[in-house]
Amino acid sequence: MMTNIELEQAAELVAAGSHPLGVESVPVSAALGRTLAQDIAAPLDQPPFDRSPLDGYALRAADSTDASPNYPVQLTVVDTVYAGNVAAIPVKAGQAVRIMTGAMLPQGCDCILRQEDTDQQTPVVSIFKSLKPHDNCVNRGEDYRKGSLLLPGGTRLDASAIGLLASAGVSETLPVRRRPRVLVISTGDEVVEPSMHPLPPGKIYDANLALLTARLAELGLTEITGRRAGDDPAALAQIIRQGQEHYDLILTTGGVSVGEKDIFHQVFPMLGAEQVFWRVKLKPGSPAMFSRYGSKPILSLSGNPFAAAATFELLGRPLLAALSGEPHFLPQERQAVLDTPFPKASPGRRFIRGRYECGRVTLPKGHASGVLSSFLGCNCMVDIPAGSEPLERGSRVNIILL
Ligand code: AMP
Ligand code: MG
Repeated sequence: MMTNIELEQAAELVAAGSHPLGVESVPVSAALGRTLAQDIAAPLDQPPFDRSPLDGYALRAADSTDASPNYPVQLTVVDTVYAGNVAAIPVKAGQAVRIMTGAMLPQGCDCILRQEDTDQQTPVVSIFKSLKPHDNCVNRGEDYRKGSLLLPGGTRLDASAIGLLASAGVSETLPVRRRPRVLVISTGDEVVEPSMHPLPPGKIYDANLALLTARLAELGLTEITGRRAGDDPAALAQIIRQGQEHYDLILTTGGVSVGEKDIFHQVFPMLGAEQVFWRVKLKPGSPAMFSRYGSKPILSLSGNPFAAAATFELLGRPLLAALSGEPHFLPQERQAVLDTPFPKASPGRRFIRGRYECGRVTLPKGHASGVLSSFLGCNCMVDIPAGSEPLERGSRVNIILL
């Protein structure tokens, strides 16, 4: 087992050996936010027919030669075609069809004149403008052609992609990258279910399970199960043994430090799990541990709620990216300027919570890893390098967006 490693190495180790879980089919209605696993070809031309982009008259360009306001050309209006209808009869020389936006170009016509360039009279309309073939026509297949690449595999399905698929009549299921089923286990004899009232002496409510399952849901995972376990190694080993059969990833909190009740040091040998690393050079959450049991990754985070949240972002997200094959799960880095000084020196690398807006970061009061209230409203973590002096207002910093 490696120990006391750099964050970057830890992130590489969790990702290495975690392969994309493959492809699953989901209904289009459930595909928002998912990542397309295969190319989708357009099943038809869009638009499916030549159509009018305006309200006016469909006619033959040859009939409009030399038409002008002073020398209008007169055409007989033989039909009216609205969006959704089809003209009844082909149009002949000397004739025109009244046409509305979105309607199919009648057979025999090759151009469309806007109604403002006519006198809008029936049954004979005077036209004031000469046109060329195709003028004002929206051509069939102008948006995309049947058989062309509509969406490449790897596309994140946002609202525009969902709209594009609907325009092509793709309505059933889509192949998307499968996302991991996650088991979250919070451990500690002191942590109790938030519904337990009154709170027994010496106990605290379990914040981590709620925080991590909510965060996973926020990131778009849907198959998430939470369990709570005490500090009994055999019982915890049993929960993990059962969990690894169904879940693709197990996340745990608590019990990874150096105390007598830091039971994971017993649990993994008991299970015969491969212990990949323990301890990462960062604060908070340095006792983070990573193991593999069977083929399943287990990421074990410190029990302090902010430490668990921070190391989930730093190590859990690369793991989700590796398991899903979806790079957007990776932490997003930015550069920013500190708007609030940070008065402590940082002998080791440190991540602190902050609020990022328009290139600037403000810091809350209260950075202890057991403090959760100051995390409220934060949307980033500032990455303070090892060996930093206190940071002044105006310092340039690297941040990770949450
Ligand atoms: P541990 O990592 O087990 O040593 O726990 C570190 C600190 O975090 C201790 O003060 C624990 O009581 C606290 N803690 C552990 N698990 C949780 C939890 N699920 N929710 C809130 N606090 C926790
Ligand atoms: Mg504990």
